[in-house]
Amino acid sequence: MKLVNNTLATLLPLIPKVFVKRFAMRYVAGETVEEALSVVNRLNEAGYAVTLDILGEHTKSHDSAYQVRDAYFDLYNAIHNRGADCNISLKLTHLGLGFDDDLAENNFSQLLNKAISLNNFLRIDMENSPYTDRTINLYNKYRDETDCIGLVIQSYLLRSADDIDNLSGNRFNVRICKGIYREPEEIAYQAPEEIRQNFISLAQKVIESGGYVGIATHDLFIIDTLETWILNKKISGNRYEFQVLYGVPMAGRLEKLLDAGHKVRIYVPVGEEWYPYSIRRLQENPHLAGYIIKNFFRKK
Ligand SMILES: Cc1cc2nc3c(=O)[nH]c(=O)nc-3n(C[C@H](O)[C@H](O)[C@H](O)COP(=O)(O)OP(=O)(O)OC[C@H]3O[C@@H](n4cnc5c(N)ncnc54)[C@H](O)[C@@H]3O)c2cc1C
Repeated sequence: MKLVNNTLATLLPLIPKVFVKRFAMRYVAGETVEEALSVVNRLNEAGYAVTLDILGEHTKSHDSAYQVRDAYFDLYNAIHNRGADCNISLKLTHLGLGFDDDLAENNFSQLLNKAISLNNFLRIDMENSPYTDRTINLYNKYRDETDCIGLVIQSYLLRSADDIDNLSGNRFNVRICKGIYREPEEIAYQAPEEIRQNFISLAQKVIESGGYVGIATHDLFIIDTLETWILNKKISGNRYEFQVLYGVPMAGRLEKLLDAGHKVRIYVPVGEEWYPYSIRRLQENPHLAGYIIKNFFRKK
């Protein structure tokens, strides 16, 4: 299967866009703010909190970085005007990190101020390892000013337990995920079981040290294990939430989490950049290419 996935991922740019779109649109709310807000509304009505993310990364000009910042301003306003239960998560390279780090920070701080002024929240997605330190440093610089900011830590990175020790405390708000990029074995666990066990212990560590954790996974073993641990330890519902990506089939598990009183948040990407985003994601992680095959054959 690994060979099939790798081959498929390499061939993806040759696959007609219409087929990739069929895959991508399961996971993307649409291209416009209106489409996104209509998905948010539907999910809110079903009991889910939502995170919106405008697709895109590695912005390569000042104008584009300002456009991305302004698109997020508009999104915050639209969320506020609708009274939606929805926050925002973004990638720093989308705001210009890697192209002009000062520009990215400037854009970021303006957006954080916007989130604060609307009593909303801004989480910084974690990108691949060249950006880990810069992302953590930026989070650290602003975290003492406000509770409206959050970070992401990836359980495949060997450094993550130390990062959490260094970052932990009352105001630490972190999403734990496995990590979607391909990272070398010098810095990252490669074995799925190690990544999984590290995920569980990182999430527990955050809660035990007084932080708030977003448990971001579709891995039912992790969800079951952490739910049981949370119940046994009588962890208060304001210390954690479960998070999943929009469109990933969860076989009724999300409804069960809601019924049991847990907070569940759906991460919903939106925007015109769905094609390059999907292609890059699939090439970076050929494992996901296997889902294309499944989705082609799954009845809607
Ligand atoms: C809310 C959220 C935010 C995230 N933010 C980041 C981030 O900031 N940085 C980062 O590096 N990564 C991020 N990720 C991605 C994450 O790191 C993983 O790559 C991704 O979630 C797959 O890992 P998993 O924990 O679901 O486990 P897996 O073992 O990969 O998946 C468990 C099961 O879920 C199903 N599944 C998983 N993904 C899909 C899919 N796309 N389509 C269909 N079925 C699927 C499969 O059936 C699979 O067997 C995020 C994930 C989530 C849920």
